[in-house]
Amino acid sequence: MPSDTAALTGNLTGQCYCGAVRVKASAAPFTTAYCHCSDCRRISGAPVSALAAFAPDSLLWTPALGVGVSHSAGVRRWFCTSCGSPLVARYEYLPDQSYVPIGLFDDASSLAPQSHSHAGSALSWLHLRDDLPKSTGSGRGRLNDASDQND
Ligand SMILES: [Zn+2]
Ligand SMILES: [Zn+2]
Repeated sequence: MPSDTAALTGNLTGQCYCGAVRVKASAAPFTTAYCHCSDCRRISGAPVSALAAFAPDSLLWTPALGVGVSHSAGVRRWFCTSCGSPLVARYEYLPDQSYVPIGLFDDASSLAPQSHSHAGSALSWLHLRDDLPKSTGSGRGRLNDASDQND
């Protein structure tokens, strides 16, 4: 669990680029992670994504999320229908976790990533110097463990 106070107290608020969609987290995220996969690159347009994993029912979306879209098996994603910002993703292999881009949150600085997923797909010119645990693949074992410990 992130150690900063805003994240710990579950007072995180955020919004999409245009402000049409807002989110409030009533509980701290299970964990936070960079993701270097090519899907995240295309969705964000950025060289790496940073995501926070929440219990789905701890997130209050205004307006409520619709049905979302699925372009790959086992993955459903929601975007702002006005500005296109990615809002949240659900993965069948990570049950009971909702992944929200850390950049949506007003206090993103309190949500430092705790690991690297898909480090095997990281861009060769991207240099993040840290000692965080790295998974060549999704890191689903560690990510699932994070929510199990919070049950
Ligand atoms: Zn928007
Ligand atoms: Zn990814």
